[in-house]
Amino acid sequence: MKGKGTKNSGRLFAAAQNILPGGVDSPVRAFRAVGRTPLFIRRGKGARIFDADGNAYTDYVMSWGPLVFGHAYPAAVRAVRRAAGRGLSFGAPTARETQLAEEIAFACPHCEMVRLVSSGTEAVMSAVRLARGFTGRDKIVKFAGCYHGHADGLLVRAGSGCLTGGVPDSLGVPAACAGDTLVAGYNDLQGVRRLLEEYRGQVACVVVEPVAANMGVVPPQEGFLRGLRALCDGHGALLLFDEVITGFRVAYGGAAERYGVTPDLAAYGKIVGGGMPLAAYGGRREIMRLVAPAGGVYQAGTLSGNPVATAAGLAVLSRLREGRARVYPRLEALGARLEGAFAAAGVAVSRVGSLLTPFFGCARPPQNYEEVLACDGAAFSAYFSAMLARGQYVAPSPYEAMFVSAAHTAAQVERTCRAVRESCAAALAPRA
Ligand SMILES: *Cc1c(COP(=O)(O)O)cnc(C)c1O
Repeated sequence: MKGKGTKNSGRLFAAAQNILPGGVDSPVRAFRAVGRTPLFIRRGKGARIFDADGNAYTDYVMSWGPLVFGHAYPAAVRAVRRAAGRGLSFGAPTARETQLAEEIAFACPHCEMVRLVSSGTEAVMSAVRLARGFTGRDKIVKFAGCYHGHADGLLVRAGSGCLTGGVPDSLGVPAACAGDTLVAGYNDLQGVRRLLEEYRGQVACVVVEPVAANMGVVPPQEGFLRGLRALCDGHGALLLFDEVITGFRVAYGGAAERYGVTPDLAAYGKIVGGGMPLAAYGGRREIMRLVAPAGGVYQAGTLSGNPVATAAGLAVLSRLREGRARVYPRLEALGARLEGAFAAAGVAVSRVGSLLTPFFGCARPPQNYEEVLACDGAAFSAYFSAMLARGQYVAPSPYEAMFVSAAHTAAQVERTCRAVRESCAAALAPRA
């Protein structure tokens, strides 16, 4: 809080709890992992957000990833206004859907064909169905601590809100669904090899966050993604990159470009919608041709490729294309400044481009889910509160990334670095 208290947020949260389970529409918003109640946000501009009590913060949640150009990005807002004035939804084809798919394919050439959907959950769930349809196999391999949305078969040792709640699996997921999901350790190629050999001829795809960012940022070790590619090829399984966070974030062409590894299928979300509900999956033509109505893998959506959402996505992706030679080096530099501040404060930190996570109470940055869980949640809560008191809004959970946007100024990031030094010192001080 910066001076003005939280009375209005508190009142709004009390009202919300009566009608919305837990007072929120998505669990991690509830601030439970840090033992607090959430701030209600009234508006945002650039890197700043303003809460219901009039407090201002520099935002490093950025809607959990979509806002690569910051809040109320003028080009996106203009495009949305123009599109909205011409109709909110048709349920018939519009030219912008083709244009947006072409933007995605230009940045991510392994996407020879693209299907637009409305959420990252839908994108990954549909890509998994497609992998099963294409291979005629039922099982999938995922990694502990990777989050792929909330579809039944993917809520197995998932990250993000599942991790935060301390409930690795959800009630209501049929054992039969979870049973087709095999779980390996992140960065553990031998584990994947063992699963593929044990279930020879049964694995449709290996689905991975090419940079894990839902258990905090855990980068792929040298050779991990290339090793997955080779293992999939050896076993006739498809490699599915969940680039919902990393797409257009860790490089213009996502992690596939950054690490030089080509998946068979990839899912996108967050940035591709420019802040609106839109996501996509794409891949090799021979696989994508199986999607209905071209082929027999059914997948549909009333609001898929929505005209207002595609307008926002196009505004953002076209400007990333035009400005990529400036935007990505800048995101990299701002991220590196923040990384340096944590390192100088003696906190282990992982960073890939503009995604970073400080890990309290570990000697070195964790390489997998088990190592993440060994970090110090109490120190994180102290750090979080100290940051908030200094006008810095970071994710209210130790298992999330900080998102830097192109709207963050060097001066804002310098102020954040100072807050990081002070907040880490407060968090690391011996507790009574
Ligand atoms: C956010 C996220 C999803 C789910 O996207 P939604 O739009 O929230 O459904 C899937 N995979 C990854 C890697 C994500 O970060």
